[in-house]
Amino acid sequence: MLNPNIHIICGKCGCNHMFSFEIKKEINDNTNKEVMVVYVSCDNCGTLTSLDELMEEKISIDEKNLTDDEKFMYNHNIDDEYQMDEKPDKWKISYYPIFEDGKNGEKYNEPRALVEKPIKNGTDFREIPLRYLKKFTK
Ligand SMILES: [Zn+2]
Repeated sequence: MLNPNIHIICGKCGCNHMFSFEIKKEINDNTNKEVMVVYVSCDNCGTLTSLDELMEEKISIDEKNLTDDEKFMYNHNIDDEYQMDEKPDKWKISYYPIFEDGKNGEKYNEPRALVEKPIKNGTDFREIPLRYLKKFTK
């Protein structure tokens, strides 16, 4: 094989050249969903390790089966600023999701985000669905 930049060493026997891998379909205990697991095996001593014990799986956002709101939050960073109704005011998301009106317990028909912007003498808070927000372009 070529000389790759990432090297693997068996933590049990120290072998660094006798590896094989295997991809298995398994059921995730927490989500009950079918997942593909990659096992790396040290063929010198027989030690077996699944790759997800060693590193995070890179999952593209399209494969995650997220709702539009979840995608929105996935792409949201704490410092991001948003505009509402094409107005120049800059809003930040302070909390998401909110499912019901805190005062009367009435359920919203879609989850809302608490957004805030600084105003004279304090902060203006609003509860709105995420779809009303657009990332601010400077
Ligand atoms: Zn080994």
